[in-house]
Amino acid sequence: MSRVYNFSAGPAVLPEEVLREAAEEMLDYRGTGMSVMEMSHRSKAYDTIIKEAEADLRELMGIPDNYKVLFLQGGASQQFAMIPMNLMKHKVADYIVTGQWAKKAYQEAAKYGKANKIASSEDKTFSYIPDCSDLPISEDADYVYICENNTIYGTKFKELPNTKGKTLVADVSSCFLSEPVDVTKYGLLYGGVQKNIGPAGVVIVIIREDLITEDVLPCTPTMLQYKTHADAESLYNTPPAYGIYICGKVFKWLKKMGGLSVMQERNEKKAKILYDFLDESKLFRGTVEKKDRSLMNVPFVTGDADLDAKFVKEAKEAGFENLKGHRSVGGMRASIYNAMPTEGVEALVEFMKKFEKENL
Ligand SMILES: *Cc1c(COP(=O)(O)O)cnc(C)c1O
Repeated sequence: MSRVYNFSAGPAVLPEEVLREAAEEMLDYRGTGMSVMEMSHRSKAYDTIIKEAEADLRELMGIPDNYKVLFLQGGASQQFAMIPMNLMKHKVADYIVTGQWAKKAYQEAAKYGKANKIASSEDKTFSYIPDCSDLPISEDADYVYICENNTIYGTKFKELPNTKGKTLVADVSSCFLSEPVDVTKYGLLYGGVQKNIGPAGVVIVIIREDLITEDVLPCTPTMLQYKTHADAESLYNTPPAYGIYICGKVFKWLKKMGGLSVMQERNEKKAKILYDFLDESKLFRGTVEKKDRSLMNVPFVTGDADLDAKFVKEAKEAGFENLKGHRSVGGMRASIYNAMPTEGVEALVEFMKKFEKENL
């Protein structure tokens, strides 16, 4: 068996320890004689799995009691619709558009009410986070929406926007559990887990209880109402059971690692290795404003598309997978989520140095 260094933006690298544990439990989960995949989601064994997953996530993030944790399906993209359908009571919401994912969410919301683009960084291909300290927040806005870490472009809000008292809603898919957060600053935060937590198929929504109501847009399907899932503790219908089980293992792994402040330190150190090299390199350069750099997704280019392609090809041959940039921006992108070991980033930088020598 040989494992590569996987820099995929998602689905992405998972902790090897977690995968090994899951492999050991594959055929017989703790004496039940069956795999978690084959188990009723109403069974006692599964009840323990989902309850422990929630408890561990609550502990990791310090989620207050007046917030619900929901394990849902439909990916992060389904939330683009579910959020306006459930929260647009006055049919007005403000969107800060800092990349493709925020743009898609904004476009989707416009189907259900008045979506206002109150700030954008599209003028410079989303290479920065706009100043959000004094935006024209709409008086009747039901919420202000951000994508906190822009997976494709590699920028991150280092400071949350001033929402002037309005509810903040955030897509945290690609920075979920990468650092401590103050959940009380958000009305709702959510993320697809396939970036930094687990296998595709699960989206986690953390929502303040007062935002969960029956007062949703007319014709909102039962399955798309937060109340449905909150009342049933994520077991209204069959949940993505195996995916939640793996997420639960990752939560335990994070606790064992020391929790989110330790992960933040580790992530900062790891990202610095790559950014420091990009800053001194004569061949490669980062593509976003330094102050807005993401710790999770690091896009870079040589400035020559053919050389970029050569780099991606040779890197793959050397065991560095999925370094090709998003199809909308080109170049390269190294996603260095929680589960990417520091050695992976060090090895990548060594490889880049060698490539630079050979190609400059
Ligand atoms: C990947 C990604 C999405 C889309 O996730 P799906 O689960 O594929 O719908 C949305 N937002 C962000 C920030 C992402 O990184």
